[in-house]
Amino acid sequence: MTTDPRDDRPHDQSDAPYPSDSTDSTDTTTTPPGPAASLASLPTEVPADADPVRCQYCDQPFPTDRLHALHLGECHADLLTPEETAAYEENEDAEVDDLFVYHLKVVALLVVVVMGLSYVYAFALA
Ligand SMILES: [Zn+2]
Repeated sequence: MTTDPRDDRPHDQSDAPYPSDSTDSTDTTTTPPGPAASLASLPTEVPADADPVRCQYCDQPFPTDRLHALHLGECHADLLTPEETAAYEENEDAEVDDLFVYHLKVVALLVVVVMGLSYVYAFALA
């Protein structure tokens, strides 16, 4: 009969599906669910001499007005004034346009890579 070296752990934690880590469990229990939670978990660092735009609802700093307007629309949509809603929609359109251009660049890069590999492969067979 062999003994497993992992069996020397306390048996009161054997019912848990995963080993408990006290530091990880405190982080997951204190973070509220939702998109604000994922934004709040991002590390942010504001230089001491900077004067960032701050959210009036959650005091989160933003480097630009555009990012602030997008944050307001994504995280505090039910609290916005009509001006803030208009600013969010305008900045969301600009963000969608920028994302579309980024996708075009990615597709162009993929086409160049595939065509380049096909060109090299064609000369390797010749
Ligand atoms: Zn906020």
